Amino acid sequence: MVHTFTMNGYNFAVDGNSGSIHVLDDISYQLLSSMQELVPLNDVIKHFNTRYSYKEIKEAYDEIKSLKEQGLLFSIPQNIEEMVLAKKDADSIKALCLHVSHDCNLSCEYCFASKGDYKSGRRLMTKDIALKAVDYLVSNSSYRHNIEIDFSAENL
Ligand code: SF4
Repeated sequence: MVHTFTMNGYNFAVDGNSGSIHVLDDISYQLLSSMQELVPLNDVIKHFNTRYSYKEIKEAYDEIKSLKEQGLLFSIPQNIEEMVLAKKDADSIKALCLHVSHDCNLSCEYCFASKGDYKSGRRLMTKDIALKAVDYLVSNSSYRHNIEIDFSAENL
């Protein structure tokens, strides 16, 4: 499944199965948003030839096709067997959210986190802790093929 969206003037595509995120130019975004899967070039040309030239469509199409071939767009779900095994392993970890910064330079009066420090002093996660956290996730991810690290930070 590919999700497309725009934010702050940028076009994005997220490939759910591979976890890949792409920043797209306008034509690639239009093409990709019109597809549920990679369709033949001729179908795309028929659909967009009033808006873009053949050369523009072909270039954007080839870029999308190349990303698919690399497993970064329209990727297939990971091995079902691996997913089932990982789910059976009760201690298996899929994702970590690292709170890397206990600080914020905006100091909003209404802050849910007491202006960023949660009333416990301003701090940053050390590199040593961050590396240990990543090692912990990898070594406890069981049979999982894809794992995820999110970053939470009050410092903007
Ligand atoms: S964490 Fe958010 S709400 Fe709190 S001070 Fe920073 S920007 Fe404002």
